Amino acid sequence: MIPQRKTKTITVGGLRLGGDAPIAVQSMAATPTRDAQATLGQVRILEAAGADLIRLAVDSERDVEGLRLVRSESQSVLSVDLQEGYRLATLVAPLVDKLRYNPGHLHHHERNKPVRDKVAFLAETAAEHDCALRVGINAGSIAPEYSERFGSDRVGAIAACAVDHCAILDELGFERFVVSIKDSDPKLVVEANVRFAEACPQVPVHLGVTEAGLPPDGIIKTRIAFEQLLARGIGDTLRVSLTLPFDEKGREIEVGRELLADIEAGRFRSVPPSFFDGLNIIACPSCSRVENEKFVELAEEVRRATAHAAEHDLTIAVMGCRVNGPGETDDADLGLWCGPRHVNLKRGTESLGAFSYEETVPRMLAELEELLRARTGA
Ligand code: SF4
Repeated sequence: MIPQRKTKTITVGGLRLGGDAPIAVQSMAATPTRDAQATLGQVRILEAAGADLIRLAVDSERDVEGLRLVRSESQSVLSVDLQEGYRLATLVAPLVDKLRYNPGHLHHHERNKPVRDKVAFLAETAAEHDCALRVGINAGSIAPEYSERFGSDRVGAIAACAVDHCAILDELGFERFVVSIKDSDPKLVVEANVRFAEACPQVPVHLGVTEAGLPPDGIIKTRIAFEQLLARGIGDTLRVSLTLPFDEKGREIEVGRELLADIEAGRFRSVPPSFFDGLNIIACPSCSRVENEKFVELAEEVRRATAHAAEHDLTIAVMGCRVNGPGETDDADLGLWCGPRHVNLKRGTESLGAFSYEETVPRMLAELEELLRARTGA
């Protein structure tokens, strides 16, 4: 049931991606990379689950040192997320097989330097060290020039950004790259990836629904997008992003393989039109930037404590760090993003302050009640 894909094939370490290569299943370590032993523990969990590729995040030179140890102990194909610190690429590239950059984060440093020059730097660094690249676009962090140009048309903004970055890499003569376009809304993921694949049919695609949240809803949201895209021949590698205790991250690989097997066998699971009605809890899947592992329990507690509001059309976002937390909670009715000791609570874009992990849920429930009262007039 998965039609032949039309993309070119690229290599990432010993892994082939795209074209007639098997669809690769990957995941990401949830521990800080500077904690090399804990991160190696995550790598072992993902290796045992059969990951084709394992991603880590690097935000500092201390993380690079952790990465160095992981690299020396693991034969796996490794990829690194460079978020704002894209210049760390020179230290990271000799140690890994793929670098991921987010076009929405390139403006944070060297604001006057053209984006094209930054991409050229990344492409040159990748080429010098035999690395592939991923252009990793996230609807929660759209590059400012695209949000200005497209306003509320988020699909238009992220699809155009992806196409433009492919054009830059093509002009630079860099061919070993994949593109991902992610959001927490599976419908948006489908629309943007279909649009992108029509414009750039040669480019291998990495699929994912970001911040899909806790199982089982997180798995259902991911399945909705993957069924629609893989059945159209779109998708060469995938990650299932779930909010899980760190020692259960291997589940992401298992679920990815289960989804693939179902789709290959034509076992599609439709959802009723009402699936998207009611309370939507989105939660980040965790990565090495999580600042307190209590974040996972908090996400579970939020789900339990808000069960009474299940029929109300509201979104609550629970994010694990200060890097993406503030921006990616802006569109939610209530947002919680977690620091080492405190949780920052927001109502829309308005900050309501920082609370201890114990105080947060009661405080959030008070806000929720107020929101419901305002909506129902009760
Ligand atoms: S919100 Fe932060 S911790 Fe969660 S996946 Fe995104 S970058 Fe990682």
